[in-house]
Amino acid sequence: MQRSGYQQTIAELRANGVRLTPQRQWILRYLKETEEHPTADEIFREINQALGGISLATVYNTLHTFAEMGIIRELSYGDKLSRYDGNEKEHAHFVCESCGQIANVESPVLSGVSTGSGFQMRSYRIEFYGLCEDCQVSAKTC
Ligand SMILES: [Zn+2]
Ligand SMILES: [Zn+2]
Repeated sequence: MQRSGYQQTIAELRANGVRLTPQRQWILRYLKETEEHPTADEIFREINQALGGISLATVYNTLHTFAEMGIIRELSYGDKLSRYDGNEKEHAHFVCESCGQIANVESPVLSGVSTGSGFQMRSYRIEFYGLCEDCQVSAKTC
C-alpha cells in the first residue's frame, strides 16, 4: 500500500477538525517527505535551522501525538533513541548495526503472507540487520 503524503494527511486532519500549528505542520511535512528515519534530536536540529524557536520537548510532544493518531510511526529500539517514520503503512526495515541508519524494505511477499491462512493481519514488525553501504566501505578501509 502506498504511504499517505503530506497534502493527503493534512487534508484528512482538517476534515477531522484538527488544526496544526506551523511548527507541527513543518514536522509532519518533514517526515512525510523524507525516506529517512530521523531521531527526535535530528528533527529538532532541522526545524530550528528552518524555523527556529521550538523546544525539544515540543518536538517530542508533537511526534508522540502524531504517532498516537497513526499518521507516523515511532520505531523504538530498547535503550537506543527512537526513530520516526513518515510512512504509516506496514513495511519492513533494514537496520545498520554500525551507524543505526534505517532503510525501508518494500516487499510484496510480506503483505501476502497471511493469504490463505485465515488470519487477518493487523500489523507486523520485521527488521533485517547488517551494514549500510557507507559502513561497508569504512569496514573495508579500516
Ligand atoms: Zn551504517
Ligand atoms: Zn520505514
